[in-house]
Amino acid sequence: MKAISAYAAKSDDGHMEPHDIKRRAPGAHDVQIDIQFCGVCHSDLHAVKNDWGNSNYPLVPGHEIIGEVSAVGDKVSNFKVGDTVGVGCMVDSCQTCAACEEHLEQHCLNGATMTYNSKLDDGTGDEEEITQGGYSKRIVVSDNFVLKVPENLDKAAAAPLLCAGITTYSPLHQYGVKKGMTVGVIGLGGLGHMGIKFAAAMGAHVVMITTSEEKAADAKKLGAHDVLVTKDKDSMKKWRGKFDFLLNTIPVGHDVNPYLALLKYNSTMCFVGAIEPLKAVNGAYMIGGRKALAGSLIGGIKETQEMLDFCGEHNVVSEIEKIDMQDINQAFERMKNNDVRYRFVIDMQSF
Ligand SMILES: [Zn+2]
Ligand SMILES: [Zn+2]
Repeated sequence: MKAISAYAAKSDDGHMEPHDIKRRAPGAHDVQIDIQFCGVCHSDLHAVKNDWGNSNYPLVPGHEIIGEVSAVGDKVSNFKVGDTVGVGCMVDSCQTCAACEEHLEQHCLNGATMTYNSKLDDGTGDEEEITQGGYSKRIVVSDNFVLKVPENLDKAAAAPLLCAGITTYSPLHQYGVKKGMTVGVIGLGGLGHMGIKFAAAMGAHVVMITTSEEKAADAKKLGAHDVLVTKDKDSMKKWRGKFDFLLNTIPVGHDVNPYLALLKYNSTMCFVGAIEPLKAVNGAYMIGGRKALAGSLIGGIKETQEMLDFCGEHNVVSEIEKIDMQDINQAFERMKNNDVRYRFVIDMQSF
C-alpha cells in the first residue's frame, strides 16, 4: 500500500481538500494506472454533499478517468505499461450472475462495485475498504474493468466518455438509432451534448429539445439539425408525433406528458437524467400510440469499449473546460449554477 495524493471531501459541507489515500499493489489481474485526466460529473457533487444519504467520508470522487498504465499483474495480457486506458463508473462486479454474463455489470445481481464510495473486498482478508475515485494521482483496477482508449482521441476530452458518454451512447445504441430516424435530445448539459453528438454520428436527424432559445446556436454547432423550443406552442404542434426516439437528459423531476405527445406511435422515450419522481404520467398518452417510457444506467464494460471504439472511428469527444485540481471547489460552485460548457476535466498534472 502506497500513499497517493488525492482530493477528498471530509464531510457533507461539500468542501474538497488535499488528502492522501492508499492504493493496493497490483495483484495478478490488476492494472495500475497513473491518472492524467478526470472528468467532473454531477454525481460527484451529489456524493460529496451526501444528497443520496449513502456517502462515506473521506470521499474521493471521480469516475471519468483517463491515464497511462504504469504496472500490470502477472496474469494481465490485454494491457501493457504505457497504454492509454480509461476507467468509468465501476471497478468490479461478481462476473458470474445472469446480468454479468449478459455484459450488464452495472445491473450485477450481487451489486457492482462502483469506482468510489462503494465497499471493496480487496481479497487480502483485511476489513473492507471503501473505494476511492479518480480525483487522485493513481488507481489500481481489475483488468476486466479497464478500457482501451483510441490513440487518436484527445485524452482530456475523452475522459467524460467514461460516464456521460456511455450513459447517452447506450440507450441510443440499444434502441437502434440510425440513419432515417428522427431523434430528439431533451436538455443540453453534460449528458445532452453527448447525446446530440452520438445521435448525429449514428446518422439520425437530430433535434435539440430545450426550454431556452439561447441554446439553439450551441446545439447546432454540436451537430443538431433542428432545435425545438418547448415554450413555442406552434413548434410543439409541428413536431407532434414525429420522433422515433427521445433521449431525456433532464436531471430533475418534470412533466413528461408534453414530450410523450412528440413521440411517433410505437416509440420510446428513455430517461438518463432524472432520478427523482416525475410528475404524474397520463396513461392515455402511452396507450394511444403504444408508446413506452424507459430508463437506462451507464452501460456494461463490453458496450463501453464499443462506445470508445465508435468515438475513435467517428472522432467523438466531449466539449470540455480543463481545470487544475486546486480549483475543484470553484468548479463545483459553477456546476451548481449550470455554468459549464459542457464538462470540467481535471488535469492531474496540476497537483
Ligand atoms: Zn457520472
Ligand atoms: Zn454479477
